[in-house]
Amino acid sequence: MRLLLLVALLATTIAIAPVHFDREKVVRVKPQDENQVSIMKNLAKDNELDFWYPDAIDHVAADMTVDFRVSGKEFQSIQSALDQNRMHYEILIDNLQEEIEKQFDVKEAIPGRHSYAKYNNWDKIVAWTEKMVDKHPEMVSRIKIGSTFEDNPLYILKIGKKDERRKSIFMDCGIHAQEWISPAFCQWFVYQAAKSYGKNKIMTKILDRMNFYVLPVFNVDGYIWSWTQDRMWKKNRSKNHNSKCVGTDLNRNFNVSWHSSPNTDDPCQDTYRGPAPESEKETKAVADFIRSHLKSIRAYISFHSYSQMLLFPYGYTLKLPPNHEDLAKVARIGTDVLSTRYETQYIYGPIASTAYPTSGSSLDWAYSLGIKHTFAFELRDKGRFGFLLPESRIKSTCKETMLAVKFIAKYILRHTS
Ligand SMILES: [Zn+2]
Repeated sequence: MRLLLLVALLATTIAIAPVHFDREKVVRVKPQDENQVSIMKNLAKDNELDFWYPDAIDHVAADMTVDFRVSGKEFQSIQSALDQNRMHYEILIDNLQEEIEKQFDVKEAIPGRHSYAKYNNWDKIVAWTEKMVDKHPEMVSRIKIGSTFEDNPLYILKIGKKDERRKSIFMDCGIHAQEWISPAFCQWFVYQAAKSYGKNKIMTKILDRMNFYVLPVFNVDGYIWSWTQDRMWKKNRSKNHNSKCVGTDLNRNFNVSWHSSPNTDDPCQDTYRGPAPESEKETKAVADFIRSHLKSIRAYISFHSYSQMLLFPYGYTLKLPPNHEDLAKVARIGTDVLSTRYETQYIYGPIASTAYPTSGSSLDWAYSLGIKHTFAFELRDKGRFGFLLPESRIKSTCKETMLAVKFIAKYILRHTS
């Protein structure tokens, strides 16, 4: 019996051994022309490269800053190919495993407790949602909008008075699992908004007249997986028919120009769009919630990392939306306001021309529903740490982002009917 137990224990340990990233590197290349772009594409064909920016090799273009992760072993051949072709490169991260451990650089004040200065795992975030409601019953309520593939609850925190007819802003964080700074911001936002009502003049004015719906973690299963098994995991965790590869990129799964990008149909890619629009339980739950609250929602804001950009529609076409000037103005002032705190520089513009083309994104989808102000933040940094932003930078990132979000909220109050 004891032996059996041991074997069982061993089997589970093997089955769930977390991925290690010893000697893995993150490399930055800036291809100068089409020739260098095709050299990059060939390297991606022959090696297993995980693209951090842009999110897939198909989006690599001349003059673009390209960041990718590669194993220490494969790096040697990549390096010699780059040298041979006189392509300049920079090693952003030399040993990924070390960098992963180094991101926890803030000491816990009270061991095991939720902290705004640290990254919190899913269990802590769930307990935190309860605490927010208990602490601010007049201001915060929790709504379960559905559940995930692995049957975890999808919780939205509503901040504001009970009146449903008021204007509202929908915000989500953590649609991509490995972008940990994103859920950290949503937690900060709820905390700050609820706490400063009645104390901070601007926040009081905003909350007197509008509500916020905040989804602190959109891709819960993926987020859990990124904590327990694979720090670099991005997609959700749903099983794919006829493929051993798991997961769909939820930000390619929305019903807008869903089929237009030919490079999103491989379940083994990180940009897999899923078998159909809204095929994923997480996407469906969010889409249903937004549809049923469309009367009140005036703005949609989604939080990603990294690259310090404030993006707006469209992602699936280079055409400009009818209210482009208005969106560009909000983004210009928003990024200006953001920079006042720590001089963090953001660029802004339509997704397709500022970052790279995307299909099936939540931003374009919300816009297509008639929500005229939709934005996506790509939070810090610009690649030094990439997805592994150290905890010591969480608070400053949240504080500066808060300024931009408050500006957008004020603008929505004033300029939408
Ligand atoms: Zn993202």
